[in-house]
Amino acid sequence: MLGKLIGFDDTIVAVATAPGLGAIAVIRLSGSQAFSICNHLFPSKDLTKQPSHTLHFGNIVDNHAIIDEVVVSLYKGPKSYTGEDTIEISCHGSPYIQQRIIDACVKGGARLAKPGEFTQRAFLNGKLDLTQAESVADLIASNSAASHQTAMQQMRGGFSKELHILREQLITFSALIELELDFSQEDVEFADRTGLYTLVNDAAKLVHQLIDSFQMGNVIKNGVNTAIVGKPNAGKSTLLNTLLNENRAIVSDIAGTTRDTIEEVLNIDGILFRLIDTAGIRESNDTIESIGVQKTMEKIKEAGVVVYLFDANEITVDELQQQIDSFKSQQINYLLVGNKIDITGESALREKFVNIPDILFISAKNHEHIAELKKVLVGKVMSGDLNTENTIVTNARHFAALKEVLKSLNDVRQGMDNGLPGDLLALDIRLCLHHLGEITGEVTNEDRLDYIFSKFCIGK
Ligand code: GDP
Repeated sequence: MLGKLIGFDDTIVAVATAPGLGAIAVIRLSGSQAFSICNHLFPSKDLTKQPSHTLHFGNIVDNHAIIDEVVVSLYKGPKSYTGEDTIEISCHGSPYIQQRIIDACVKGGARLAKPGEFTQRAFLNGKLDLTQAESVADLIASNSAASHQTAMQQMRGGFSKELHILREQLITFSALIELELDFSQEDVEFADRTGLYTLVNDAAKLVHQLIDSFQMGNVIKNGVNTAIVGKPNAGKSTLLNTLLNENRAIVSDIAGTTRDTIEEVLNIDGILFRLIDTAGIRESNDTIESIGVQKTMEKIKEAGVVVYLFDANEITVDELQQQIDSFKSQQINYLLVGNKIDITGESALREKFVNIPDILFISAKNHEHIAELKKVLVGKVMSGDLNTENTIVTNARHFAALKEVLKSLNDVRQGMDNGLPGDLLALDIRLCLHHLGEITGEVTNEDRLDYIFSKFCIGK
């Protein structure tokens, strides 16, 4: 498959735990010299003579000076994460100690690991396929129940399994076609065309499902930009506070967001709703304010969902209809929420808006129908059930490759419709297999791999 990468024979070292002060830090060494390098620093016993998967307590000593008391875990290849001989040194969490141990390992012949290099080695040694390796990064970055579950499922090979089925189907197809080619002189048709057609159709259906799941995958992985908009005094701040009180997400640093435009993040049923700051929305002739409004309008267009909150007692039916028309013309995914039902009463308000479907009536102040609002909000961004047992594509690279697979499958279908000869059909099938192989890493190149793994953290 792949030639050996440059530097692949080196023994690498890195701190695997989060940078900075902690109770414990773990330093990882992987490669053919891992045992001998660590052994040099660990005088209490000969680590090279100890069985794999054992723990050893002792001192790390450099230049006759004790650096720390540590526990060393031994993993002999291939039964390790990377597939190589691997050692993990659990030391006290001082950054000074960590650095001293790293320096001593480097002095002993190890080299500092690049981001993701441990996982890259696991991939190159066949411990994981590429989709599984990528899910390791997703797992580390997961920040909600849903993103954790999908990454976990993928790491365990869920997505690879689907791709494997697809691959088998396509290989069967091309084998039949090629068999036919071998006997072309004798004018036999081995490959029953209807059967082949069904096979390609089934494959296309599966790819379609995977492609469709990406929208959901994106929501799970990255959350949904959400805008709560409405006139001043509609109750936006009140609603926001009500929602935040129950659902504020713990967010340290979520990739892919510009911090200054994101105010708060809600975690509803495991999905992150990132609330875009749309403070500027109001009608005004003032130029500065208009710029604010314009910016807000741009942000609204970027939002995955817009909650339009209005005072149901104040707004006229015509006014609301105009607002709906405007959302529709801009293809905005909106949700109509009529607030302050406590003033006039829900049934009177339902009567007033009887001709406008799908309004959710709430009282932000009295916390009325908030659970319903949350449910509808989730429904607005998820097509179907959030069943993470199903394979959900979360990775943009996989999404792009799957679209190529589908394109080639459609070419095959069209080719069959037009009575294209078998050798040309086989070409398109091979193209499909190529794009599939790109996802799992059977077809790849070093630059691509370096790029994928460079997005990992150091030590993983
Ligand atoms: P914003 O300008 O859209 O952010 O609106 P606010 O959240 O500041 O609310 C404006 C006023 O409406 C405040 O006095 C709120 O207490 C009040 N308000 C908000 N929600 C409700 C509600 O459900 N019922 C009633 N009666 N008043 C509400």
